[in-house]
Amino acid sequence: MSNTRGLPATEQFGKRRSYIIAVAIAIAAMVLLWAATGAESSDIALATYPARVVFLAAVLAGLVSGKLSVAVTERVIIATMALFFLARTALMLFGPDELLATPLDVAEPMLLGALLFTLIFVAFDTSVSLRLSLSIYGVFAALVVPGVAPEVVAGAVTERTAIVLAATPLHGAMIALLWVLSSRKEMLARARTQTTFLKEQANTDVMTGVANRRRLEFELDRRLGETARYGQPLSVVLLDLDRFKAVNDQFGHDAGDQVLRDTVDRLAGALRSTDVLGRWGGEEFAVIAPGTGADDAARLAERCRTLVAGTPFPQVGQVSASFGVASYQPGDTMRSLLRRADEALYASKAGGRDRVNVAGEPT
Ligand code: GH3
Ligand code: MG
Ligand code: MG
Repeated sequence: MSNTRGLPATEQFGKRRSYIIAVAIAIAAMVLLWAATGAESSDIALATYPARVVFLAAVLAGLVSGKLSVAVTERVIIATMALFFLARTALMLFGPDELLATPLDVAEPMLLGALLFTLIFVAFDTSVSLRLSLSIYGVFAALVVPGVAPEVVAGAVTERTAIVLAATPLHGAMIALLWVLSSRKEMLARARTQTTFLKEQANTDVMTGVANRRRLEFELDRRLGETARYGQPLSVVLLDLDRFKAVNDQFGHDAGDQVLRDTVDRLAGALRSTDVLGRWGGEEFAVIAPGTGADDAARLAERCRTLVAGTPFPQVGQVSASFGVASYQPGDTMRSLLRRADEALYASKAGGRDRVNVAGEPT
């Protein structure tokens, strides 16, 4: 499983842009080096530059036009680089000396290895990257051992062999470091996802799935700030199911729970997208209605009242709710606004239940 597939579109875009820049720089560097040293150079590295430039130009065109997906680009480049890295290593160890005339011929494949392993860890997730890197490294080591053994045994190590010898543990260390880095990154990403999930849970009422009291208070506090600043209306509707203890007593707690869930579903039908519905506690709910004045909030509460009391609940029959509405007045705090909504709700209960009461102006 590759990283690329699971990435959001914006990150895919970011990767594509990075690859376009990297490939363009690689092409420019090769053209410059080739031009500077001359096309007749005997270096293998330089001799293969035209072919490499053509290959990278094709990749670049595919990336820019969007015809080549990031995932395919990564696979093609990694496969090509891996073949190149291993072939050049083999040539260096077993090939004729005349072919390896310059330091570039010796150094380049070793540098290429570092780039290859890095790209693998960028392209794939940690476990795939580790397996792929170790496989390539295994083939590399399998070439190195018989390649350097004769010189090491004879005690006459050439510069070329010394470089390969030095590169072998370095490549191993590089893979180890990339693995650590990649694991940490994955751990961090997992922790971030978990934090988001836990945050969501901490703000949600488990039984009904709507905002819990903590979230309601947070939202109300935020809306109060906006209301105080911009002078838009803001209302709070509190509602409490009537004689709910009797529902539990008669039909059982599970049936009561179902009524609470159904109530949430019904209330949701009366709300605008900007309204926040939450469970205030027990059989009590709250709606925060930004941009809604007292009259509209009273109508909203009335709609909610009808939705609860108008249709019998499947297991328990008719259940009603009492409502208290309070609207923001200059100088209101969360506490004072909620107190008035609660007093209005209490007045609804005292007045016979199954009704809406709107709080008056604060005294
Ligand atoms: P009132 O009309 O005055 O509000 O009467 P009431 O019976 O609804 O009020 P009271 O405060 O006496 O009782 C509230 C009941 O709500 C008692 C409690 O068992 C029930 N209740 C609170 N939370 C839950 C819950 O999560 N599930 C269930 N099934 N019942 C709950
Ligand atoms: Mg009640
Ligand atoms: Mg209650």
